[in-house]
Amino acid sequence: MTKDKVNLLEHLLRKGTTPSFSFPLDVCEFRVDGLDGYTNPKTWAKMGQDLRKGLIEYSPGRELVVNGVRYVVGGLCFFNPPNKIHQARHVFGKGLNSPDLKWYNRCVEHRCGWVSKEMDGPLELESCPVCEGKLEPGRWYRPEGFAPIIVPYTTNEEPAKGARKWRGREYLMKAADPKSMKTESARGRIELPAPLLGEELDQDLKTENIAHIIGLEDISRRLSIHSSMTDLEDTNKGIELILINSGYNNRGYFLCPDCGRTEIKDARKFRDGPNRSGHHRPYAPWWPLNLDIEEAEKQEARELCTGMPLGIETDNDMIMLGMTFKTDIVLFRFEKPKTFIEGRELSKLRSFDGGIRAIKEALIEEVQVKKEFINREIGGGIRKFSVRSENESTRFFSDIFLYDEVSGGAGLTTEIVSDLKEIPEILDAVETRLSGKLCIDERGCDMACIGCLLDFRNSQEHNQLDRKNGLRLLRYIMYGRIPTIEQGEVNHDGNQTELQNMARSISIDSGFNVELESADGGFVLIVRSEQNEMKIRPISEMVNLDDDPVVSHYGPRQRKELNLEGAAHEPARSDRIYWLHIERFSRLRTKLARLLREMLLPLEDQPL
Ligand SMILES: [Zn+2]
Ligand SMILES: [Zn+2]
Ligand SMILES: [Zn+2]
Repeated sequence: MTKDKVNLLEHLLRKGTTPSFSFPLDVCEFRVDGLDGYTNPKTWAKMGQDLRKGLIEYSPGRELVVNGVRYVVGGLCFFNPPNKIHQARHVFGKGLNSPDLKWYNRCVEHRCGWVSKEMDGPLELESCPVCEGKLEPGRWYRPEGFAPIIVPYTTNEEPAKGARKWRGREYLMKAADPKSMKTESARGRIELPAPLLGEELDQDLKTENIAHIIGLEDISRRLSIHSSMTDLEDTNKGIELILINSGYNNRGYFLCPDCGRTEIKDARKFRDGPNRSGHHRPYAPWWPLNLDIEEAEKQEARELCTGMPLGIETDNDMIMLGMTFKTDIVLFRFEKPKTFIEGRELSKLRSFDGGIRAIKEALIEEVQVKKEFINREIGGGIRKFSVRSENESTRFFSDIFLYDEVSGGAGLTTEIVSDLKEIPEILDAVETRLSGKLCIDERGCDMACIGCLLDFRNSQEHNQLDRKNGLRLLRYIMYGRIPTIEQGEVNHDGNQTELQNMARSISIDSGFNVELESADGGFVLIVRSEQNEMKIRPISEMVNLDDDPVVSHYGPRQRKELNLEGAAHEPARSDRIYWLHIERFSRLRTKLARLLREMLLPLEDQPL
C-alpha cells in the first residue's frame, strides 16, 4: 500500500468506519510541519506512536526528542485538513458544539473515581451515585496527532527577530526552539483507564461460575469474577475503556478552534506579539499554488492566528484529550458487606482506596508471574459503584479489572478465566506479596516498597498504595475475617509488629508504660500511670465499630472514642475500652500523648 492509502485506512479506522478492534491501529503522530520556501511545505520531523502511549508521551507541554532535535508539544495536528490555513476549523468550527467533542461525566471527589458511560451529553444527576460528591462534566477530543509551535526563521536558520518574528508565514518556518520558550512546570494528568460499564450488574459481562472450583467454594460468597464475553463470531467483543489526559488540575487544556494550539495554564499566550494580536500555530499555513485562494484568506495566513481558545470563559469548557479502546477484561468484584461502613463514606477513605489499589497491583504481578506474561502486557484499574435495589437499599461494589495493554487486545486477560483452577493459587501468592514477606524490611513496610508493590509501571500510584490495608481487605475476601489491626500482620495471629510499634511510640511520647495485652478477639494497648490505667483499641476505619472483634465485647456505654480534638477530658476509667482509628495513631502522635497525660495524670501533675 502507498503511504497515503495507509494513512487513509488509519483515518477510517479511527473514525470507526471500519471495525478497528482487531487492528493494532490506535495510532497518533507527532509532526513538525513547517515551510522550506513559501510554496514548499516541509515535514521537518515526525514519529508515530500508539495513541494510548501518545496521550502520555505527547502530552501538551512535554519535551520530545526526534532525531536528536528537541521539541515541545504545543498543539494538535490533524489528518489531511481541508483548510490548510485554519487547520483545526473542520473539527472545532462549531466551538463547543463540535460533534467531535464528547462528554466525560465523572466524579471529581478525591479517590472516588466514578465515571459514567454516557458520552453524548452531560448527566442530569445532581451528585455522584457512589459518594454523593460533585460531578463535573468535561469535554474531550480524540487527537489524531500532536505538534510543536511553528515559527518564522531567517534564511540562515536563525529564529526570526523583530517584526518578522510575529508573522504567521515566512519563507522558512520551523519548530520554536525549546530554549526560547518559558518552560512550563505544569503538566497534564493522565487518569487511569476506566471501563465504560453500565450501573446494572452483569450488563455486558459474563459471570464466571467459580463456586464449584476447589479452593474458591467459600471465597465465592464474597468475590465474583466476570469477564468480557469472548465470542469468536463477534469481532466487536471486549469492553470499552476510556483513557483521559485531563490537563493541568483536571481542567483540560486551552485549545484554539482555528489552529489547534494548546496551552496548559496560561490563556494569555493566545494574545502574543507586539499588539497582542494573536499566536503562532502548531503548523505553517500554506496552500497549493494552483489553488485559488481569496486574498483575505492569504492575508490571514500571513498574520498570527487570532482564534480565541475554547474554555476561555469557564474552566468547564476547557478541552481534555482522550480515547476509548476496546479490550478483553477480567473483573474481580467485591460487594461491601454490612460489617463495613456505608459505601458512600467507604469510597472516599484513603485506607480502602489504597488497599484495593494494593490488591490490584499485587494481582497484576502474580497473574503475570503465573501466566509468564512479559511485564506491562496487562494493565489494571479499580472501579467503585453502587446499585440501588428494589427495596431501596443501596448495594456497594468495588471492582478490580485487568485488561490487555496491547492495542486491539490479545486475549491475555481472558486466559485467566480459561483456567479458573489457578485462581486460588494466584490469590495465595497475592496474600504472600501483601503480607510483607517480600518487603525489603522483612517485617513488612508501612505502605508499599519495591519489594512488595512498587515498580516503574505503577509510578503514578506510588503514594496511594497501602499494603497493609490491602492485606486486611484481601483476608476478608479470602477468609471472611473482619479487617482489624491484627489482620495487617505477616501472620495475623503471630508477631504484632504494628501494635508493638504503636506501644513504643506512645510510651516515648507520653512517658507512660505501654503494653500489649491479649483480649477477647484480639489485642489491646494498656497504658499505665502510677495511679491509673486505660485500655486502647486501634480499629480499622473501614469497619463498623460494632463489628470490631474486641470492641464488640463491650457495651455501647463502655466504648469511648479518644477525642483528640476536644477540650476538657474526664479521667480514664479502667472498665472502658477507648478506641481510635489505626490511621490516626501515627498522624496525631503529639495530640495523643497530650490527651493520655490529661486522662491518666492527676490534675496537679498535668502539663499546662
Ligand atoms: Zn463520587
Ligand atoms: Zn489558533
Ligand atoms: Zn513492602
